[in-house]
Amino acid sequence: KSAKPLDLGELLEQVRLLLDTQCLMNNIELLCNYKAKPQPVIGDANQLKQVFVNLLKNAVEAMPKGGQIQLIVDADTRETSITIQDQGPGIPLELMNNIGRPFYTTKQNGTGLGLMVSYKIVQDHGGSIHAENIPQAGAAFTIKLPIAQVKD
Ligand code: ADP
Ligand code: MG
Repeated sequence: KSAKPLDLGELLEQVRLLLDTQCLMNNIELLCNYKAKPQPVIGDANQLKQVFVNLLKNAVEAMPKGGQIQLIVDADTRETSITIQDQGPGIPLELMNNIGRPFYTTKQNGTGLGLMVSYKIVQDHGGSIHAENIPQAGAAFTIKLPIAQVKD
């Protein structure tokens, strides 16, 4: 892994561009909410993009009739968090108990690998993913990544 800090804001912008057409076609609005300035993170840009794409695709697929996806960026002194929240039916209870388990899918053409791969990548980057259901809203996945400590 490269030790070069990545610009998280730029990374999320690239992910947004990748998902733009798919959101448009599915009548989905992707709203970005920066509660904190995006902080630099260390790692593999392509792998981290893959994580955001996987979670955003799941959010799109959870809302076949369209809706909104919130992408919320926040940070404390140590970690930055990126939450992807949808307005779908929420995460099935079986999955909550086996989150990141391979081959669990409720989709006709699903692989059930996206979450597992995403969990692995985030773990490899020293971070974590937390899944929850927000009452009256939908599913929310929060990715936490350590902030790159820039030494002078
Ligand atoms: P796939 O998308 O191929 O099914 P994933 O590993 O990405 O595989 O997701 C596994 C399963 O987790 C999905 O089939 C779905 O049941 C559930 N899931 C994932 N994201 C969401 C979400 N945002 N809302 C509801 N269920 C979800
Ligand atoms: Mg998926």
